[in-house]
Amino acid sequence: MSLPSGLRRDVPLARFTTIGTGGPARWLGQPTTLAELTELLGWAGGEGLAVEAIGLGSNVLVSDGGVDALVLRLGGELAAVTILGTTLTAGGGATNAVCLHRARDAGLGGLEFASAIPGTAGGGVRMNAGAYGRDWRDILLDVTVVDAAGPRTVGAAELHLGYRRSELRPGEVVAFARYRLEARPPAEVRARVAELQAQRKATQPTNRRTFGSVFKNPEHELGAGRMLDECDLKGHAVGGARISPVHANFIENTGAATSADAVALMVEARRRAYERFGVVLEHEVRFLGPLELPAVPAAGL
Ligand SMILES: Cc1cc2nc3c(=O)[nH]c(=O)nc-3n(C[C@H](O)[C@H](O)[C@H](O)COP(=O)(O)OP(=O)(O)OC[C@H]3O[C@@H](n4cnc5c(N)ncnc54)[C@H](O)[C@@H]3O)c2cc1C
Repeated sequence: MSLPSGLRRDVPLARFTTIGTGGPARWLGQPTTLAELTELLGWAGGEGLAVEAIGLGSNVLVSDGGVDALVLRLGGELAAVTILGTTLTAGGGATNAVCLHRARDAGLGGLEFASAIPGTAGGGVRMNAGAYGRDWRDILLDVTVVDAAGPRTVGAAELHLGYRRSELRPGEVVAFARYRLEARPPAEVRARVAELQAQRKATQPTNRRTFGSVFKNPEHELGAGRMLDECDLKGHAVGGARISPVHANFIENTGAATSADAVALMVEARRRAYERFGVVLEHEVRFLGPLELPAVPAAGL
């Protein structure tokens, strides 16, 4: 099969992530229609190439050596928003901010919880992102996913969304997501969003380069942030990366961080959390490329 048009080779990915680290994608595709996306995935399937989607890159850490895959960023109709009645259809690449504003202007509520989550519809589904007691389970009706075999519609229940997880299969890309919202006056939506954003600013490093929560909250009375705070990790730095002095479950790029610096901090954080609390922390951030955390030595895990 010939090379689909618009594909670019060896494209640096750091600028497509909120932490701003990592190497190049072997191939980068930026489809703007379902037909283009389907063609790209068919091509990758034929080439035996792995596929990774990237939204706003707000919960990914890209290997410094790059990603040997076709990386896809969705645009055009795949990042557009349409509303019919109380149903909002978001392209997989539509940002939560745009979805929220469009919903508010149409007198629809339900997405306010996502106002402080700087991602896209595709990233929200993949991660089952959530905040303030709500997550994608509360709004998702169904998704159109595409893989090498073409597009298909998958109901929300089939995705088995759980705490920061979904059962999207490797190589499946969310082209569209449909949300079930409810009638709510725009002023009420605006007021709730302002309230949630003020709370956020007071507790998290919102003006820094981070990838959001590093670790999932473990089954423990303390959340990951409190646990790492008690391990004296706030401000701890490796190279250009440091654990946020504001919230210990965030890693900041203070200027010239590499992904390896961030990984070194994660290794240290896991070691200390295990020694102090007997808990093996599981990372929430998704790794793109050959990155992995070594076992926590004492736990053998
Ligand atoms: C300051 C800050 C605050 C944050 N607060 C929260 C929070 O409160 N709650 C929360 O849950 N998260 C939070 N996050 C993390 C992040 O914003 C969410 O996980 C978000 O949903 C990721 O969306 P994204 O589009 O940026 O996805 P990316 O980070 O680009 O990707 C995340 C994962 O989704 C996959 N993916 C992306 N697009 C698609 C697609 N179209 N199809 C299939 N897979 C796809 C990627 O391959 C990757 O595995 C925060 C991050 C930051 C930087």
